[in-house]
Amino acid sequence: MRTPRLYADTISHASGEVVLSERNHHYLARVLRAKVGQRVSLFNGQGCSTDAVITEINKRQTVVNLRDRTEHADQRLPVTLGMALIKSDRFDWTLQKATELGVTAILPLITQFTDSPPKADRLQKKWGHWQEILVNACEQSENHWLPQLLEPARLTDLRVTSQTVVAHPATTSVTVDPLESTLLLIGPEGGFSDEEVETLLKKQVKPMSLGPRILRAETAAIVGLTLLGQQYGQY
Ligand code: SAM
Repeated sequence: MRTPRLYADTISHASGEVVLSERNHHYLARVLRAKVGQRVSLFNGQGCSTDAVITEINKRQTVVNLRDRTEHADQRLPVTLGMALIKSDRFDWTLQKATELGVTAILPLITQFTDSPPKADRLQKKWGHWQEILVNACEQSENHWLPQLLEPARLTDLRVTSQTVVAHPATTSVTVDPLESTLLLIGPEGGFSDEEVETLLKKQVKPMSLGPRILRAETAAIVGLTLLGQQYGQY
């Protein structure tokens, strides 16, 4: 059986026996029906992972004994994905794939053509749901670094970084400086408005083509990250 890999942000300074979180206890006890002696791998989402062995597992809690700790090299893709809020299932898919591709941070964007941006009271719920997607994707893809989920921002309020790239059809390919990180902007299904594009270009944002066809926003995000990944020498 494959060793279960679980996110545990508290392992950084822990040693010896630790009680796992309710989420991890539920997964091991109820989903996997794990037993004492089972090995697990825990990671903190900040590049540290620890082998552990279950020493107690019952209805209430799972206790593990922490063993070897490993500090992993930082292999994050130095890109923040500024992703327009699109339909929930497609946005969720994008979060999962961007995590598999090792993105450093994700910035949900509200643009002129964003359909019904989430209201403040729903945002808290969404936040937890998005965070869980990132954690699951890290667990599955053996990514040791949990992407930072930034507060949703309006494109109009966005402070562009020294290297910001906007994916926009019918433009040109772009070369980035691999020594600097990139903020990659992907528009919603209706695209960025002409006014938004004009404002971004005035701020020295570089336009980027993703090929001769019009891609769905979520496909565009993955293609954009992959092309940048190549420039950062990740593939
Ligand atoms: N009709 C819209 C337009 O022309 O912008 C199409 C929007 S597309 C479905 C959603 C987003 O994906 C775009 O705003 C852009 O960021 C990105 N995109 C899709 N295809 C692209 C391409 N070929 N080159 C660059 N960006 C692309």
